[in-house]
Amino acid sequence: MPLASLSALSPKQLGRRVLTSGGVYPLVRARALRGDPVTVLMYHTLGADNETFDAWTVVRRSDFVAQISLLRRDYDIVSLDEATAHVRDAAPPGRPKAVITFDDGHTGLHRYLFPMLEELQLPVTIYVATGHIASGRPYWFDRVMNALQVSRPAKLHLADHGLPGFTIEAGSGEERWQALRGLLEALKRLEPGRREAAADAVVAQLASCRRTDFEPLEPLTKEQLLALAQSRWVTLGAHTDCHSLLDQIPPDVAQASMERSAHLLREWTGRAVHHFAYPNGNHNRELMARAQAAGFATALTTEKGLWRRTDSQFAVARIPVGRYDDLTRFKFNLLAGQWRH
Ligand SMILES: [Zn+2]
Repeated sequence: MPLASLSALSPKQLGRRVLTSGGVYPLVRARALRGDPVTVLMYHTLGADNETFDAWTVVRRSDFVAQISLLRRDYDIVSLDEATAHVRDAAPPGRPKAVITFDDGHTGLHRYLFPMLEELQLPVTIYVATGHIASGRPYWFDRVMNALQVSRPAKLHLADHGLPGFTIEAGSGEERWQALRGLLEALKRLEPGRREAAADAVVAQLASCRRTDFEPLEPLTKEQLLALAQSRWVTLGAHTDCHSLLDQIPPDVAQASMERSAHLLREWTGRAVHHFAYPNGNHNRELMARAQAAGFATALTTEKGLWRRTDSQFAVARIPVGRYDDLTRFKFNLLAGQWRH
């Protein structure tokens, strides 16, 4: 890159460019991978390349393929069971290991990921929140995400729900997503009963300006889930039945929801379920003990980092990947373990 264009970059962008350029990157990467950690990537769902649904959780199909191909230059992509054995048995280090995970269980996984698995020979783990599969109704977060795809700016009045007003801009892109996060985080802070009502209010208030030219976030049907479960490339993981933020509900209820999702997945697909991911990553010591008591071998969080031998297998860190991550940022994020320990 010529110097003139480098000067147009922000300090953060410049740092990222330098870190991911030829000379420095291998050194930083070697340091990140010291001790042979496993790199676990966290996705949510995939969308068509021309899909206009604009949310961090929907990664374009072609971006995903490019990320997998970049990853494979340096990493072996393995199943979560293989990675668990690798961490547990302190196997002799070879090429670094990576695991691909998807949270929630959206239809995009059946439409875009499933047809590619065999060709890419790609092991993946899909964490399924069973409640929205059983009901066919998206969880509050996805209902709100669908509602936020608007054709013109709109104002939300949420004082009745103890929230400030929000202006929802039309358009797309990372800046808009960052602006919307204020609303999403405010909703997450509400107590669960109030949150459902507030989410319904958002959906109702935005109904008149909602776009119709996009594929909304919807849960997998049971048939789609069964097709995925029958693939030799897919590991199913539990993600609770309720998809509540588990540190906001009684631990007994949280554990029952963990167990119910594993039980239903086994009942629907005939496959045993050994792995778990905390909804939104929310966990604490008590919940880690509950995940162990529920019989899982691992429990994954959304904390950013690499999975090291010294970590509890009930608080495994991951590296999030979203719609707005270009390949430079993707590569930069793979170094996340650097700053965690
Ligand atoms: Zn989730």
